[in-house]
Amino acid sequence: MELKKTTDFIHDLYGTDFVPLSVPVFIGNEKKYLNECIDTTFVSSVGKFVDRFEADMEKYTNSSRAVVCVSGTNALHMSLMLAGVERGDEVLTQALTFIATCNALSYIGAYPVFLDVDRDTMGLSPVAVKKWLSNNSEMKNGVCYNKRTGRRVKACVPMHTFGHPVHLDELIAVLKEYNIELVEDAAESIGSYYKGKHTGTFGRVGAISFNGNKTITTGGGGMMLFNDEELGAYAKHITTQAKIPHRWEFKHDHIGYNYRMPNINAALGCAQLEHIEEYVESKRETAKIYEDFFKNIPDVEFFTEPENCRSNYWLNVVILKNKDSQQEFLQYTNDNGVMTRPIWELMTRLPMFEHCEHDELENTVWFADRVVNIPSSVRIK
Ligand SMILES: *Cc1c(COP(=O)(O)O)cnc(C)c1O
Repeated sequence: MELKKTTDFIHDLYGTDFVPLSVPVFIGNEKKYLNECIDTTFVSSVGKFVDRFEADMEKYTNSSRAVVCVSGTNALHMSLMLAGVERGDEVLTQALTFIATCNALSYIGAYPVFLDVDRDTMGLSPVAVKKWLSNNSEMKNGVCYNKRTGRRVKACVPMHTFGHPVHLDELIAVLKEYNIELVEDAAESIGSYYKGKHTGTFGRVGAISFNGNKTITTGGGGMMLFNDEELGAYAKHITTQAKIPHRWEFKHDHIGYNYRMPNINAALGCAQLEHIEEYVESKRETAKIYEDFFKNIPDVEFFTEPENCRSNYWLNVVILKNKDSQQEFLQYTNDNGVMTRPIWELMTRLPMFEHCEHDELENTVWFADRVVNIPSSVRIK
């Protein structure tokens, strides 16, 4: 694996003694906008940056409505609820994901069903979804049920792993056949496109994250994207305590949530979004440099974007040919100032989800044994 050559290369690429996995960069109006919040006292849940950030994201992703949240996790929670997921429903998703996907559906009282991913995307496989549905489900009055548990299969949450889009056309076709709602976990894929369309905009609602390690950050934060303006307006309403607008009265017409992003976080988001194209270009350029470098490193393969996609390369991935070398790779790089990480522990191996239904997860386990994330921060000269 030529570990010394690899760590030397990454040190040179980033030009620092310690190379972190993914850290934010602030090269624009961040301080200016934050000062403006403080100077005007609008630091909290009301202010012009909240509205502007939503409008800017609508334009950027070509959505009819974008609604900010306090985190990507609660954007997902709300998205699932708005897609009609209810207590006792089942939700098809992947075991190869960050815990937030499953936490969000668990808040509603829904059950995950873990299906396999594709080798060329690392994301939920339409073939696996179709296979599971045809073997395990039945349709009654246009509603899909799990034959064994009797539960309704209401939604499907694919996750665009490390910014690489899943096969959306094929997945959408399967879900249509079974009348299942698509809710994209696009937490990692801002700036990633599938056939020219921004990820997170393919279902009625999709969720994005602006956590500190993501491609752009608001400190902490998330967003829901809608094509349906009415549903978007409703999302805004329930994430802001479901208060009926009035100059002084406190009247609410629904159980609401206090999920609204504060103005200071939105200010950061506006400044970050002004530079997103440079960030994504920089990340793609880094990926290309890695791709060329690893062509000459035995037993290590660099993961590249799926066909018909433009990935943001949020976190770069190497696949180790020999699964027994994953620990050695992690040990050497982390001992030598290059931060690397294995992929998340599979959901099916965590105590909360180990009893959940799943398929063979063949590719999922294959990736879990071999993936290592390598430094991926934006490099701005
Ligand atoms: C980051 C992330 C989220 C959301 O995380 P927050 O920290 O709550 O913003 C959700 N799903 C995936 C796959 C993620 O990587």
